[in-house]
Amino acid sequence: MAQPPVGALHQDAGLNQSILTTSVDALVGWGRKNSLWPFTYGTACCAIEFMALAGSKFDISRFGAEFIRFSPRHSDLMVVAGTITYKQAPILRRIWEQMAEPRWVLSVGACASTGGFYDCYCTLPGIDEVIPVDVYIAGCPPRPEAFIDAILQLQDKIQDASYMRDRANRTHERIHIG
Ligand code: SF4
Repeated sequence: MAQPPVGALHQDAGLNQSILTTSVDALVGWGRKNSLWPFTYGTACCAIEFMALAGSKFDISRFGAEFIRFSPRHSDLMVVAGTITYKQAPILRRIWEQMAEPRWVLSVGACASTGGFYDCYCTLPGIDEVIPVDVYIAGCPPRPEAFIDAILQLQDKIQDASYMRDRANRTHERIHIG
């Protein structure tokens, strides 16, 4: 028989989560989704669109994500914007590993998500070859509105406890480089 989760009020064998546990999850999710700390891994043109998002016109601070950090140790959201080569792939992976959990990844544009039109020997065909991605943003480059839509999608995922549990299992799967 499965053991009850540590700290949960487990009165009913058919109830695998207590009201207290789910309420705390919801509160923690609400706090996390409204205080994202982005780290930009920008390598090409898509990164310019992220700068537009951070400006006053599109104003990323409306979504609680304006504290852009330049250290992975201070960040929980990696924004990969631009082409990633095979030479860069281990560096991208190393920087992602330096971020504390919980951490999330946005894959910005065609190049980061699929390699884009750089169908060649040196370009990684998508960053999900080396790190897990939470939200993909289509476009070449994506407009700032698409960034905003991706942040809203990510916020929904962060608030969703079942997504966070599945994601924790996925993150611990072995990911190959190269
Ligand atoms: S998707 Fe387009 S805009 Fe973005 S980095 Fe690639 S070529 Fe540049």
